[in-house]
Amino acid sequence: MCIFCAIAAHEIPSKVVYEDDKFIAFLDLTQTTIGHTLVVPKRHSKCIFDLNEEDAKEIMVVVKKVANKLKASLNPIGLNIINNNEKPLQSVDHFHIHLIPRYENDNFDILFKDNSKEVNLDEILKKING
Ligand SMILES: [Zn+2]
Repeated sequence: MCIFCAIAAHEIPSKVVYEDDKFIAFLDLTQTTIGHTLVVPKRHSKCIFDLNEEDAKEIMVVVKKVANKLKASLNPIGLNIINNNEKPLQSVDHFHIHLIPRYENDNFDILFKDNSKEVNLDEILKKING
């Protein structure tokens, strides 16, 4: 059994922020920022590419509930929602969404590099849409 399936089954303890019959949200042990929380479907999927469509539909409602709970309780200046699939950043092979509350000077950064001068949008779109 994978570690998140074990957490969902309460075979491994976790710091539960939210739970219902299909999803569980718990504090990420790393606490990248204060309140860093993972939202996880209880049904095992490895990543977005094999995620059950029902779970895909419903998980964002849970993400919103947890986001509101974190905002109300921890008073962050903002919140990042991050999901890693396969390489290079997925560390547990059970689909999960990171909620990372943001604070002034929290030492967490995501770099959106501007590559617009080096790419052709029409070529990319043709590859995607055929
Ligand atoms: Zn699992």
